[in-house]
Amino acid sequence: MYNKAINGFTTAMKGLSLTFRHLFASNAKRKVISVSDDNYFKQLEGTNTIQYPHQKLPVPEVGRYQLDVEIDDCIVCDLCAKICPVDCITIESIKSTTGSIGETSDGSKKLLYAPKFDIDMAKCMYCGLCTIVCPTECIVMTNQYDKSVFELKNLNYEFADMAPEVAAEKRQLLENQLAERQAAKLAAMNKKEGDA
Ligand code: SF4
Ligand code: SF4
Repeated sequence: MYNKAINGFTTAMKGLSLTFRHLFASNAKRKVISVSDDNYFKQLEGTNTIQYPHQKLPVPEVGRYQLDVEIDDCIVCDLCAKICPVDCITIESIKSTTGSIGETSDGSKKLLYAPKFDIDMAKCMYCGLCTIVCPTECIVMTNQYDKSVFELKNLNYEFADMAPEVAAEKRQLLENQLAERQAAKLAAMNKKEGDA
């Protein structure tokens, strides 16, 4: 009887010591180290989570997170929108009436304006295909992942920096140019028929 009581007490104390060990260990904060650090998976002490947002784990350089577009380097080729499997990139282009409108940082000629360049990150599946096909490498995945918003529509990122009135003016100029060319073509055809 006496031995049983001793055994019970010893077992209870062992269990309690284990519980307290984990209780105090869980109060220890996990050290934030790079994922490329050899000791990344060897941190046995501390909680599994960190004190986010005060502490943040570094993300891998090749991670796929929020997209960003350097619009000045975009040649509005539409390749990214065409390859996107979920159609979350919407681009509107307006052809310049004066030929080249400048160059990108890699020397590519720009012939089109982009009054609209939207990416709906709520639909994006982070496949990265758009970044692969971009000829000027102006659409990239960043290391930004914390983009919580209160409204879904705020996940539609707008990258175009053209004012609506400027875009309307460019559209009008293009329409006029096309109409002039059409009229000149018609006049040339009529003249040809008259001469015949
Ligand atoms: S990462 Fe994939 S899904 Fe997202 S915008 Fe690019 S192509 Fe579309
Ligand atoms: S593929 Fe690149 S250059 Fe072409 S429209 Fe998309 S972001 Fe612009």
